[in-house]
Amino acid sequence: MDHPRAFLLLKPDCLRLGLTGSVERAIARAGLRIVCRHRVTLSGADVRCLWPEYHEAGHPLALAFLDRYLTGEPSEVLHLRGPDAFEAARRVKREVRSRHAAGPFANVVHGAQRHGEMARQAGHLLGRCAACAEPFHSDEPPLNPPRPPGRDFRADADLTALVDELWPLVQGVPADPGPVRLDGDDTGQAVVLGSDPEQTLDSTVTALWHALPGVELRHAVLLVMHAGYSGGTPVAVGGRRALDDCLRILRAHGVRACWRGLI
Ligand SMILES: [Zn+2]
Repeated sequence: MDHPRAFLLLKPDCLRLGLTGSVERAIARAGLRIVCRHRVTLSGADVRCLWPEYHEAGHPLALAFLDRYLTGEPSEVLHLRGPDAFEAARRVKREVRSRHAAGPFANVVHGAQRHGEMARQAGHLLGRCAACAEPFHSDEPPLNPPRPPGRDFRADADLTALVDELWPLVQGVPADPGPVRLDGDDTGQAVVLGSDPEQTLDSTVTALWHALPGVELRHAVLLVMHAGYSGGTPVAVGGRRALDDCLRILRAHGVRACWRGLI
C-alpha cells in the first residue's frame, strides 16, 4: 500500500544548529516535497502523548531527559508528500542523523518507525490548518510496544535537577565516570556493559542500581550513557566473587549485553 504522506519533526537542536536547510535538501533528494510546515514548542504533555511507550513511573529518567531535550524551545513539523513518503522520510531521517547526530539525546530529527506511529503522531502534530486537516490512516495498531521499565527514581532524586547537572556531560561523547570499586582484591578484570537497544535508560540504570550496591544515581546514568556510545564500558572492578555477583544481578534484570573483561 502506497503511503503518499509523511512528516518529520525537526527537534530544537536541529533549529538551533541551523540544520534546516540541510534537512530540506535531503528531503528534495528523496523525492519528497514539503506541503506545510508548523512551528511548535513541545510541552511535557506533548512528549508523553507522542511517545506513550514511556510512562511516568517506569521511565522517569528517559522522560526527564526527553523533557530537557525537546520542550520549551521551538521545533518544526514538516508535512511531506511524495511517492512512498513513509519509507522516503525514514531514509531522510537516517541520512540526517548519520550526518549530524551527536550524542544520546542529540539526534536532530524524529520520524515515525511504523505506519501506526506515524498516523497517531501526525494526528497530534498536524491537523491545525486546511493543508494538514486530512487525517493520516493506518491499518496498524497506533501504539508502539511498551519498553522495559525501571525503578521509579522520582523517589530517590530530583530528576530535573539531576538532568540539568548531567546535560553538559552527555553532549557529544558522553563522559565516562569510571567503574565502581566493589569488594575484594582487584583481579585486573572488570564487568563491562555493552549497548542494548532492547533495553531502556531506565531499565539499564535500574539493573546497575541493584548490581552496584550504593552506586550514585548520577554515576549509574553516566555509565549507561557511555556504554550506549562506546559499546563496552567497564562498570565494576574488584574481587572475583563481587564481579560474579554483579554479572548475575545484571542478567537477572534482563541485561544481556554485559560480560567480564580485562580492565
Ligand atoms: Zn499545516
